[in-house]
Amino acid sequence: MEPSTPPRKAQPEKLSGVRGMNDVLPADEPLWRRLEEAVAGAMRAYGYRRIRTPIVEHTRLFVRSIGEVTDIVEKEMYSFTDALNGEDLTLRPENTAGVVRASIEHNLLYDGPKRLWYAGPMFRHERPQKGRYRQFHQVGAEALGLAGPDADAEVILLCQRLWDELGLPGVRLEINSLGASDERRAHRAALVEYFEARRDALDADAQRRLHSNPLRILDSKNPAMQALIEGAPRLVDFLGEASRAHFERLQALLRSQNLPFRINPRLVRGLDYYNLTVFEWIADIGGTPLTICGGGRYDPLVEMLGGKPAPACGFAMGVERVLEHMRAQGGEAAPAQCEVYVVHQGDETLEAALQAAERLRDAGLEVILHCGGGGFKAQFRRADASGARLAVIVGGDELARRAASVKWLRAGEGEAARQESVPLERLAEFIADALVA
Ligand code: ATP
Ligand code: MG
Repeated sequence: MEPSTPPRKAQPEKLSGVRGMNDVLPADEPLWRRLEEAVAGAMRAYGYRRIRTPIVEHTRLFVRSIGEVTDIVEKEMYSFTDALNGEDLTLRPENTAGVVRASIEHNLLYDGPKRLWYAGPMFRHERPQKGRYRQFHQVGAEALGLAGPDADAEVILLCQRLWDELGLPGVRLEINSLGASDERRAHRAALVEYFEARRDALDADAQRRLHSNPLRILDSKNPAMQALIEGAPRLVDFLGEASRAHFERLQALLRSQNLPFRINPRLVRGLDYYNLTVFEWIADIGGTPLTICGGGRYDPLVEMLGGKPAPACGFAMGVERVLEHMRAQGGEAAPAQCEVYVVHQGDETLEAALQAAERLRDAGLEVILHCGGGGFKAQFRRADASGARLAVIVGGDELARRAASVKWLRAGEGEAARQESVPLERLAEFIADALVA
């Protein structure tokens, strides 16, 4: 008989997340929270109220709103058939369509205009790279039922307030007007004529779009096309009187608030439902200009989705890109996991330590209780790593006198070695005072 070796246990396969879909780890949480709190504050300051719509919607909602001949609908949507009932569904690539759908479905505009905001994950099947992911997050605002350039100015001011709040200098505003549909039609005819005369210079994407959506050629990121695009007929030259007046009033309003902007006649948005005002906020992140926020007016959308006609404008901001910009503004120190770390001397004192930690939490303090036992030295290493300013030591002798020790952990506060015995019933109060000192 052969000597039997025990069968090698198969190592379970290591699982990883889906490409382009990121985990947000605790170390990043403070930055995320700072952004989320600033957003909530800015929205409140302008009277916007939060709406939460589902991540999954009927595919036709996006096809109808975003438009058939767009990057998103052509190649970026996570669409699937619900295996249980055969419905065609899509993970939302953006949230404007969902917000407008919900507003119509729940008749939110029955008593006048609504200012709404949202935040959450969006999904687009793109090639992942810095600032471009397959699951990413957007924050956005939608002003529904407001037609004038005053509402356009308001959403733009809201963005500026947010950049200021987040300490992000130098985020540049570019604006343009897409006019009304007949103006775009006339411009489109001129564009097609221009590009047709130069067909050989068009890349494959542009050739395909030449008749389906020539405006999108202007949005091309192909460097080889830029000179051609530069010379193309400009939409601003096709604007009628009303569109021009709207655009000029917006500019005057922005100037009145000392908000600098640049008119970029090549600026078009990736989605089909925009008219009149379009804008983008651009930040230089690591030396490269990146659009962190885009928005504008989309008056046709409510009616396109089956609602009573109502004008609308808004913006969507790429959260990961804003965070990237915040990071570039200077690193933040890793935050402490807690204020107080409770160590104790073995099992006999565990009950008392648990009890002390609970009382400290009752007093509103953030407390980690050492778990897993171990010697004092090992416990203090954990206490140090936690970032806590104070350690509480629950030990046998002192406990007999109904007291515990408070030890100052952070060097540089001139108290690195300080330790004091404190009666248990005064512990919470003592620590609260010590932390504000
Ligand atoms: P781009 O031209 O960069 O593809 P877009 O026109 O598709 O942008 P919008 O649909 O207007 O972008 O979305 C608004 C904002 O959301 C963008 O300005 C960007 O900051 C962010 N964003 C869009 N797509 C992604 C993505 N795949 N990953 C991270 N952020 C994104
Ligand atoms: Mg895109």
